[in-house]
Amino acid sequence: MKLLVTGGAGFVGSNLVRMILGDRLPGTEGASVTVLDALTYSGNLANLSAVAEHPHFEFVHGDIRDTGLLDRLLPGVDAIVHLAAESHVDRSVRDASVFVETNVVGTQRLLDAALRHGVRRVVHVSTDEVYGSIETGSWDEDCPLEPNSPYSASKAGSDLLARSYHRTHDLDVRITRCSNTYGPFHFPEKLIPLFVTNLIDELDVPLYGDGENVRDWLHVDDHCRGIALVLTSGRAGEVYNIGGGVELTNRELTDRLLAATGRDRSAVQHVADRKGHDLRYSVDVTKISTELGFAPQVPFEQGLADTVQWYRDNRAWWEPLKERAAL
Ligand code: NAD
Repeated sequence: MKLLVTGGAGFVGSNLVRMILGDRLPGTEGASVTVLDALTYSGNLANLSAVAEHPHFEFVHGDIRDTGLLDRLLPGVDAIVHLAAESHVDRSVRDASVFVETNVVGTQRLLDAALRHGVRRVVHVSTDEVYGSIETGSWDEDCPLEPNSPYSASKAGSDLLARSYHRTHDLDVRITRCSNTYGPFHFPEKLIPLFVTNLIDELDVPLYGDGENVRDWLHVDDHCRGIALVLTSGRAGEVYNIGGGVELTNRELTDRLLAATGRDRSAVQHVADRKGHDLRYSVDVTKISTELGFAPQVPFEQGLADTVQWYRDNRAWWEPLKERAAL
């Protein structure tokens, strides 16, 4: 199987590539992987150093919007796993334009190129944030999309475009909508790596609003297991939620990170809430569990402890990133 992984130098994508080339995802063993990544501020070749010399690995520095490049890369590709995106909500609040360019226009160009070159399968990696915010209960895959941030709206646009290429062109597109993902190699602007790296450096952490926003957390290895299951065993045209079933308020999560780093609540700075901040995300994972046998394998306590330790052990990875992004 020849796979093209877009955004494979980012957090989730690089984890997926390392797992595939390490034969850690059933059904993808022996696959060859080409990563297409524009190496934006959040893309990082260091994330792929473990597989750089792998005989089945190739890296292409380029943009998913570059139609000519796609026309050179796609012949012979069996399947695309599409993760390339602008991914940070706060950045989309400040300036939404690149989110539309990459997430919407980029996805449309990639889907068109997949059609032109007869790519047999596309997994579009979407997000639970496309559903909006839910006070009680959980979203199943039939719930309407009501995104609230420019990020989630651009992801909803790409999600619906992906769906339309199945309905209109019969392209085998499968969509995943996963909850908040954590783990190593996560760019240190996101909540868990920002807080962990601040706390171990004896700095304060900025907690939005009253800290009562609820997120469901899933380890990145489990997110990648879900993507691989959908790639190898899912059905064309279907959407699959992926989640961990670990719902925490940001305040509860912060308390766990304080405990893990030996700090106390005096390290927490309450800052003005994010504009349009969704109160709660919660996905119903019945479909992927019953149809594809998905079950998270990394217990949250263990995954979080390992992640904190990873940031302790890998200062050389995150320190320059924080300096460059002025975090
Ligand atoms: P990330 O920001 O770490 O990685 C995104 C990658 O895409 C980077 O390597 C970047 O260089 C690349 N990229 C950006 N624009 C590009 C372009 N125009 N052409 C080619 N490459 C480009 O993000 P992530 O957290 O790894 O998320 C990956 C995907 O998973 C995204 O589509 C995101 O919406 C989705 N997702 C993430 C989470 C999460 O919690 N991290 C949860 C659900 C879904």
